[in-house]
Amino acid sequence: MRQTFLPLSSPIIGEAEIAEVVDSLRSGWITAGPKVKRFERALEEHLGAPHVRCVSSCTAALSLALRIAAVGPGDEVLVPAMTFIATANAVEEVGARPVLVDSEPGTGLIDLDAAEAAITPRTRAIVPVHLAGRPVDLDALGALRDRHGLTVIEDAAHAMGTRWNGRAIGTHGNLAAFSFYATKNVTTAEGGALATDNPCIAREVERLALHGLSLGAWQRYGDAGFRHFEVASPGIKANMTDLSASIGLHQLPRLEGWTARRAELAARYDALLADLPLQTPPPPDPRARHSWHLYSVLVEDEAGISRDAVLDGLLRRRIGTGVHYRGVHLHPYYASSYGIEPGMLPVASDISDRTLSLPLSPAMTDADQDDVVEALTHVLASGPALVS
Ligand SMILES: *Cc1c(COP(=O)(O)O)cnc(C)c1O
Repeated sequence: MRQTFLPLSSPIIGEAEIAEVVDSLRSGWITAGPKVKRFERALEEHLGAPHVRCVSSCTAALSLALRIAAVGPGDEVLVPAMTFIATANAVEEVGARPVLVDSEPGTGLIDLDAAEAAITPRTRAIVPVHLAGRPVDLDALGALRDRHGLTVIEDAAHAMGTRWNGRAIGTHGNLAAFSFYATKNVTTAEGGALATDNPCIAREVERLALHGLSLGAWQRYGDAGFRHFEVASPGIKANMTDLSASIGLHQLPRLEGWTARRAELAARYDALLADLPLQTPPPPDPRARHSWHLYSVLVEDEAGISRDAVLDGLLRRRIGTGVHYRGVHLHPYYASSYGIEPGMLPVASDISDRTLSLPLSPAMTDADQDDVVEALTHVLASGPALVS
């Protein structure tokens, strides 16, 4: 058994990130300033997206995007049941109704046929999630968008490194919200960004994320002369800081290498887990590049042990795990507000019961991964005994 705990994922913070944060601290410019602008330009370049604006979180990016699309009370927004709660919460935050959509078996991605069947005259938008870093079929999604005149806001929290038809997420004619939270493929500790091809939307994100002020703090307090600001409509406080951007600036150049290592580890898991009673992730669509933000398996019924017992067993053997996710519809607020029973979203409910994420991070060694497989083999072999 391992001597040390292996976390599900851990941020990779190098000396360059540390030095850049210290540089900001010494410069006196610690909140939204020149480094946020530099990080935005670096993201535009990296993604190939015309406009990127950074904010304090992906959650803020999602709710600002909904607000800018004028989604509000009386409107419905299609949201996958199989996602982190923030996707649905952002819809609630603007006063609209999240309509939870079931998953495709296997990938767990939003079932686009089920989404289309759930469209009503009140449906304004859809927020698909590139779950685990596997892209939703953006060709089919674009056709659905155009048939029904929907706004598409991609929840790209897992999708730094993901591509569809050779192009990065954020360049397919939709809004895309990224997360730079500590566990994500690129981190700024806390942070998010919205990518768009529309310069007016980019300006609105920037304005609304800073109280609705006509000018950013950088312009207000810079050396270009004092300028009065004006508020045409109230915003929120959700700007990124230069301290965060300092970290991101040095993460981004390493992302391609990290994504390659993630893919290597995923392929290695596929091979090493083949004989265990686990369903491993299906191979990616040929049009996709999976970013392998997560490597999630489903515990087969024949294992004779519950997912939660596997989690406990792994933890006892010092292996960190996660559950991505228990569906939004299983949380008491959503179940009771919208009268949803688990059987109404059968695929998402089944995944919620059986899914388990294994440690995956570019910092992980092959030996770490062997420890995970050994622990899983042990826990699954003793499965039925543990249950009884
Ligand atoms: C992490 C995550 C979010 C929220 O990101 P924050 O930057 O923490 O707000 C939203 N959606 C999904 C799918 C996530 O995994």
